[in-house]
Amino acid sequence: MNTLTATARNDLAALIHPNTNLAQHQEIGPLVITAGDGVQVFDEQGNAYIEAMSGLWSVALGFSEQRLVDAAVEQLRQLPYYHSFSHKTNAPAAALAAKLAELAPGDLNHVFFTNSGSEANDSVVKMVWYVNNALGKPAKKKFISRQQAYHGATVACASLSGIPSMHRDFDLPAIPVHHLTCPNFYRFGRPGETEEAFSARLADELEHYILDEGPETIAAFIGEPVMAAGGVIPPPQGYWAAIQAVCRRYDILVVIDEIITGFGRLGTMFGAELYGIQPDIMVLSKQLTSSYQPLAAVLVSDAIHDVLLSQSQRLGAFAHGLTCTGHPVATAVALENIRIIEERDLVGQVQRLAPEFQRRLREFADHPLVGDVRGIGLVGAIELVANKATGQPFAQPGTLGGYVFRQAHKHGLIIRAIYDTIAFCPPLICTQADIEAIFSAFERTLVDATDWAR
Ligand code: PLP
Repeated sequence: MNTLTATARNDLAALIHPNTNLAQHQEIGPLVITAGDGVQVFDEQGNAYIEAMSGLWSVALGFSEQRLVDAAVEQLRQLPYYHSFSHKTNAPAAALAAKLAELAPGDLNHVFFTNSGSEANDSVVKMVWYVNNALGKPAKKKFISRQQAYHGATVACASLSGIPSMHRDFDLPAIPVHHLTCPNFYRFGRPGETEEAFSARLADELEHYILDEGPETIAAFIGEPVMAAGGVIPPPQGYWAAIQAVCRRYDILVVIDEIITGFGRLGTMFGAELYGIQPDIMVLSKQLTSSYQPLAAVLVSDAIHDVLLSQSQRLGAFAHGLTCTGHPVATAVALENIRIIEERDLVGQVQRLAPEFQRRLREFADHPLVGDVRGIGLVGAIELVANKATGQPFAQPGTLGGYVFRQAHKHGLIIRAIYDTIAFCPPLICTQADIEAIFSAFERTLVDATDWAR
């Protein structure tokens, strides 16, 4: 214990870690990260790691963007905080709302700010219920989500998420939600089925569910354009067109959770653009500020906003909001972050880097431990399996993944293990040389993993 640093001691004594095996944490202790430089971070002992996950899929501009620091400091000096309740506003919040409305597809012209993606998706649930009550459709309240979806950690968002460990033992779901089949072609495509046929089958499943339940009870479909935390699952061909057509047929709102895909990750500003989705509601966070400040945004269509306005005429205040909604420092950082993404053409940069990133990723496809390799833009995953021929997962899911995750640190690499699926999501500022360094370090990690798995 004496060899532990003060940070490690304090951490072990008092800090409850999110999404961490708390018992194991007491045994292996924390990795204390103290500094960042570009795509790298450093621990207390000075070891360098390439951050191939951009923190939590979010640090688009890397870990040392001085302009974001300056934007925060300048705003802290000018006006460190003000709220936006009761008709107050501040310049960065108003400017960012206008900028997001300009960037967003379709008529998503109205923006509500929160501090986290979870609060944003929670706000979506409340807004959708509020709007349907206003429209005289009080029964139209159910959400449709997907197995393996991730939409956040609050009571409502964990309910929307389709990850069993987020429900079991937490008494969730606590809102009316149904989880459809995960659009993972590798796992759920049938022998001989094409991706298009798989998409059509999933759209049929959606339609049958709606008809069984009654369309008058279903409010919205929520989905990530590419599922990320559930294992990096790009949709099969034709998926979004087919799903969207069903939703439109039955007056079901389409909510797009772009918390990971927004701001260039897939090589387009938003995933909606890439997959031809015309959402009624879009949710943004993470790369919005490169996570230098906590911020998320809910963008709603003119039609939804019209209902909010007319309800205020009837009821008075829109009774929803947070102390830090539209925080001036967070919104100032977001404005500068978007300015940099545009000035440096980072969306174009993703398009230029993606072929090499995806090629390097797919080079692992022949490895005996690798069942599937998938990805798009600058996000990808390698799924490790017990039996390559059949795709059979390991008997104890996550054991090998956990080893790979820890062993990667020894090779100066931070990746994520989603059970036995290894995810890569480097900062948008990464270079070809960084991509090479990431996959070379992973190659060395996989050699160790092969020995370990024997
Ligand atoms: N939605 C998606 C797609 C996410 O990936 C996340 C976080 O990883 C969230 C929602 C929740 O965001 P937050 O962790 O900021 O609450």
